[in-house]
Amino acid sequence: MRKKTMIRLLFLLGLVFLILAGCKGKSVAEENILERSKQNNTITWGVKYDTRLFGMMDIKSSTVQGFDIDIAKAITQEILGKDGKAEFVEVTSKTRIPLLKNGNIDAIIATMTITDERKKQVDFSDVYFDAGQSLLVKKGSPIKSVDELNAETTVLAVKGSTSAVNIREHAPDAKILELENYAEAFTALQSGQGDAMTTDNAILLGMADENPDYTLAGGTFTNEPYGIAINKGQTEFLDAVNQALKELIANGTYDQIYQKWFPDTTQGKVN
Ligand code: GLU
Repeated sequence: MRKKTMIRLLFLLGLVFLILAGCKGKSVAEENILERSKQNNTITWGVKYDTRLFGMMDIKSSTVQGFDIDIAKAITQEILGKDGKAEFVEVTSKTRIPLLKNGNIDAIIATMTITDERKKQVDFSDVYFDAGQSLLVKKGSPIKSVDELNAETTVLAVKGSTSAVNIREHAPDAKILELENYAEAFTALQSGQGDAMTTDNAILLGMADENPDYTLAGGTFTNEPYGIAINKGQTEFLDAVNQALKELIANGTYDQIYQKWFPDTTQGKVN
């Protein structure tokens, strides 16, 4: 009798264990993102919603538009086929790595520079755009280059960006004010909270283009090669993204997308 009870108890315990194991969702590290994307016919991309030319929410059509968006869509179709779906989730420079690590997004394509520091946390694809850090000022500003930023000047930067880190090196005396995102940083520049704003030239050009009272000051003072970030351990997915990028460059799709967003220049193009 006691033996039977023991066996029943063990059986029940086993059952509870199996149910609990079944309930626990797979962690990002355990899941094969490429397999899952194929099953769902979807890749979820983390993109900017406030960065003209790269990833900008268009209120009228409720769609996000830009170079990063079109590259993401083209990579999705290369990997999943013509009917493959690219879904977009908003990230900022500060939230993009945490959102990737939590599994909210499968990849980041959001004006993100490949750096050794970031490589400790995520893997990067090959370079798909070459930018460089610069300054944006109001036309007529006495600031003509990064060397003119001194203890009397305030520079606006965005949290979580390489720009916020680099500017401390290139203008060690300047005051730095860090904002949450690029929309806020530009509003701060317009309202006179800073004398200059700093980030990549391509992002600043997008702002200057739309706001003719503002202009870039000096050239670039860093190299900012953009890569697509993917969680570590997702080698198959990373290989598929790199393969897709190569194909887009070889078949002219990359050129077409580049031309659409940057018709008057060849700056930043990687082929
Ligand atoms: N490319 C720089 C970075 O990855 C600045 C642009 C951004 O904040 O996304 O930090």
